Amino acid sequence: MSKKVLVVAEARDGHLRNVSFEALAAAKRVADGGEINAVVFGSQAANYVDTLGHYGANKVYVAANAELDVYTTDAYFQALRQVVDAVKPDTLFIPHTAIGKDLAPRLAARLNTGLISDIIDVEANGDDIVFTRPIYAGKAFEKKKATDGLVFATIRPNNIPAGEPTDSSAEKVDFTVEIKDLRTIVKDVVRKTAGGVDLSEAKVVVSGGRGVKSADGFKPLQELAEVLGGAVGASRGACDAEYCDYSLQIGQTGKVVTPDLYIAAGISGAIQHLAGMSSSKVIVAINKDPEAPIFQIADYGIVGDLFEVIPLLTEEFKKVLV
Ligand SMILES: Cc1cc2nc3c(=O)[nH]c(=O)nc-3n(C[C@H](O)[C@H](O)[C@H](O)COP(=O)(O)OP(=O)(O)OC[C@H]3O[C@@H](n4cnc5c(N)ncnc54)[C@H](O)[C@@H]3O)c2cc1C
Repeated sequence: MSKKVLVVAEARDGHLRNVSFEALAAAKRVADGGEINAVVFGSQAANYVDTLGHYGANKVYVAANAELDVYTTDAYFQALRQVVDAVKPDTLFIPHTAIGKDLAPRLAARLNTGLISDIIDVEANGDDIVFTRPIYAGKAFEKKKATDGLVFATIRPNNIPAGEPTDSSAEKVDFTVEIKDLRTIVKDVVRKTAGGVDLSEAKVVVSGGRGVKSADGFKPLQELAEVLGGAVGASRGACDAEYCDYSLQIGQTGKVVTPDLYIAAGISGAIQHLAGMSSSKVIVAINKDPEAPIFQIADYGIVGDLFEVIPLLTEEFKKVLV
């Protein structure tokens, strides 16, 4: 039976995050010829309608309230609730980002429905929709399906291929929402990382651990990341030692990344770190200790001093890429 799907698209710094397109790709898999709706929030929302159409949305709800320019739980919850009530979807997809992780459980509780969170794949055969999600910090995977009511899932970035844009277009639905009784407002956003590639969506991540030894020790990693068009990440060991900011931490209690290439330099490979990067497509480990556990999951291992290996890699990549 064809489905009515609603996808929450997420925009930041004037562009849609890739995971919005990945969520639309998931929507196409399950829609079974039905209607794919998207919603986008904030005063710039109308700018994204065409792009969402190119990636498969049939209708885009534009909730252009200025109160939605910066995320607050209260405002986004009220807005999304009103859109869900209007669209009445059978299936709802939200990106598994900082925003989605905060919003989805609250919405599920208020809608009195289940939530399958952090999915990395979806297979649909008519009404049989099966989601795959990692468990035990990525050591195993489980398959889940909703047995009743709304099918509601959050989608981990960088796992479901977004597909190519087409020249299809979407109908724009202006949908100003009523937002009231906000208990919190954001007065100022202070960014800890300036510019650069967004770590959670980067195609290449160069991560440093305690082996980097100092804040200055991250400089060669930054250079390599720049040459590769990637982002710098870190282990908790490096963050705890104050070599870098916690916003770079990858792992169970940090960010989860799934880049095409993950370079781990001076990282031992503790299970809590693996939880955040083990689904990377290609893993390269650089470590002085040939027994370091990171080599067990690495596709390519370099036993050596990172301060020698990283500059060599940077030079070689520069020759072919710059
Ligand atoms: C509840 C909980 C949650 C946690 N969450 C996270 C998390 O989200 N992310 C995370 O990363 N950790 C997390 N941890 C911590 C985790 O257990 C490890 O302590 C941490 O990952 C270790 O960081 P590290 O690999 O940088 O340091 P170490 O384990 O100290 O490893 C440093 C490595 O660098 C190598 N090295 C040293 N010098 C060089 C050199 N010059 N060149 C090459 N290699 C060199 C060493 O051989 C060693 O293998 C968590 C722990 C707990 C208990």
